[in-house]
Amino acid sequence: VPGVTEVRVALTVERTARRLIAIASGKGGVGKSTVAANLAIALHRAGRAVGLVDADIYGPSQPKLLGVEGSRPQARDKVLQPVATPYGVPLLSMGQLVDADKAIAWRGPMVSGALGQLVDANWGDADTLVLDLPPGTGDVQLSMVQKHKPAGAVIVSTPQDLALIDARRAIDLFRRTDVPIIGMVENMAGYACPHCGEISDPFGRGGAEAAAAELGVSFLGRVPLDLAIRAASDAGTPPVTGTGDEAAAFIRIADAIDA
Ligand code: ADP
Repeated sequence: VPGVTEVRVALTVERTARRLIAIASGKGGVGKSTVAANLAIALHRAGRAVGLVDADIYGPSQPKLLGVEGSRPQARDKVLQPVATPYGVPLLSMGQLVDADKAIAWRGPMVSGALGQLVDANWGDADTLVLDLPPGTGDVQLSMVQKHKPAGAVIVSTPQDLALIDARRAIDLFRRTDVPIIGMVENMAGYACPHCGEISDPFGRGGAEAAAAELGVSFLGRVPLDLAIRAASDAGTPPVTGTGDEAAAFIRIADAIDA
């Protein structure tokens, strides 16, 4: 039937045209969600139509980071409608579907079913989906990566040895599943003392850049450990929307990703 063929072609084009960028980390607490939120907004401001998928079942923090805590998406014909945020990036989060405490107890198939609903939602004309993955390299990540085939992955790590070892595992997972690694971001690199301005390195310095070189992946840039980042994030006003050095750091990394 000619009409049916046409619809299929349109769907294929639509699916391949949307780029899924996975933001991953080997362990939790390294700032993966913070980086995902700010990169999504920076890409949007650079002219991309971006949606954000928060798949971190262990700590779905995107509704809070984007100032829409407590929001609930509607479903139309069983397809989820992403929630608008004040920053031009529509959002769907595991945290909007279920209480975080309950989601942690989910089994693999439930998680992958929920993730499918988030990724295959009504993203309209979004050309890029930024996917905030759960930390680590478990079965969930593996099935997710195989099912939704990201166009590329960004690995977030602190300069600390332990975080780097875990980041290596994450890189290994993407390599084994043929997901191109866009590069590595070093977060919490260098602490600027708010009183005297002196820069110290609580988690070491340059570790992620050295590891990236050693592993043959691109180094996308570093984000300083900055009280302003924590405060703005907690207030639901992503630091990339400000005017400080920290905003510039996220914008540079987004440019590197989009290059
Ligand atoms: P993850 O997603 O890796 O678990 P989060 O993005 O939730 O990590 O960050 C963990 C905590 O660290 C949050 O309170 C966040 O505001 C803070 N944080 C992240 N990156 C920075 C940074 N560069 N400077 C200061 N605080 C940060």
